[in-house]
Amino acid sequence: MHKETICVQSGTYHDAVTRGVNTPIFTSSAYEYLDREDVPYPRYFNTPNQGAVIHKLCELEGAEGGVLFSSGMAAMSTTILAFAGAGDHVVMLDALYGGTHAFATDMFGRLGIGYSFAYTSADAVASAVTPATKVIVIESPTNPLLGVIDIQRVARIGKERGIVTVIDNTFATPVNQRPIALGINVVVHSGTKYLGGHSDLCCGVAVSSGLHAERIRHAARHLGGSLNASTCYLLERSLKTLAIRVERQTQNAARIAVYLAGHEAIRNVNYPGLPQSGGHEIARIQMTGFGAMLSFELDDKRIAPALFLRRLKLIRPAVSLGGVETTICAPAETSHVKISREERHRIGITDALLRLSVGIENVDDLLADLSQAMDGK
Ligand SMILES: *Cc1c(COP(=O)(O)O)cnc(C)c1O
Repeated sequence: MHKETICVQSGTYHDAVTRGVNTPIFTSSAYEYLDREDVPYPRYFNTPNQGAVIHKLCELEGAEGGVLFSSGMAAMSTTILAFAGAGDHVVMLDALYGGTHAFATDMFGRLGIGYSFAYTSADAVASAVTPATKVIVIESPTNPLLGVIDIQRVARIGKERGIVTVIDNTFATPVNQRPIALGINVVVHSGTKYLGGHSDLCCGVAVSSGLHAERIRHAARHLGGSLNASTCYLLERSLKTLAIRVERQTQNAARIAVYLAGHEAIRNVNYPGLPQSGGHEIARIQMTGFGAMLSFELDDKRIAPALFLRRLKLIRPAVSLGGVETTICAPAETSHVKISREERHRIGITDALLRLSVGIENVDDLLADLSQAMDGK
């Protein structure tokens, strides 16, 4: 089946009593246990509402099994702890989502887990691997500079050395990138972003081959980050429009990237769809669309970033991303505020860098808003 059809049809729980076309919301946290083996319980990650969503997501990502979580960080932390313990080592990209980066630096030491950060390149990942490495965690495209890493090469490094490979696929979504087909073991999402897509829910997911999913579910039962039935239902409803939302968002982003790249008040634009962008060649091979996230650097001699943000009328300065509405943020003030200014500049996050999460509005209205904010008219 095609992704649009999977989004709408897969996993729906058909209720024999009412014959409604949607999955009912099953609120029970207690289920009868006589004459059955797999008794549902929310923290066992096996309720009908959890099952309906996981089924859909597994088909979208080409996975055999998965676990739905109450946040993206619950999905990521549980996945890492399922495969790494005291004495083990984890290789991570230095450009990983800030929360994942902080999870390692704050907690791995106490847990006895060693770690190294690598640049966004498969060679850097290969040289960071040690005999104790059990997990490699990557992200592509990265936040906020939209760096791209060769996913197939990372998967091969993992396979050759028996290391579990994990990718955070939040930015691309399965609509634009399916890492399991490229050889990656586990795909993690912050469902709070595109999967939910309406900036009104918080959830996460990890999907993989059957064996890896079982390990993750086992760890998840201890750590307990399960998702409630009502939010499962909201997510299931959101996923029905995932493909058409992300396709429109991707088209809009491509138009905006070209417009910004040609504007004299912009120093540079980071978007893997632009031929001049560093990751374009690899992105063309491993992505079916270039996504709806982009970042750009204002020429702050022409316009101060703070003034630009205040002049925007339609596009809202907001944290988070992936909603149907277009939002913008300055990573130096939001996601990367805890990193020193020197360190931010070293990795390319200047005070004039802005990150845009492109929505499904009419692109001409978005272009008009960006234009009036830049030119002051
Ligand atoms: C937001 C985000 C996360 C964390 O997800 P939460 O749902 O906020 O816990 C992880 N990875 C990426 C790329 C994100 O954007």
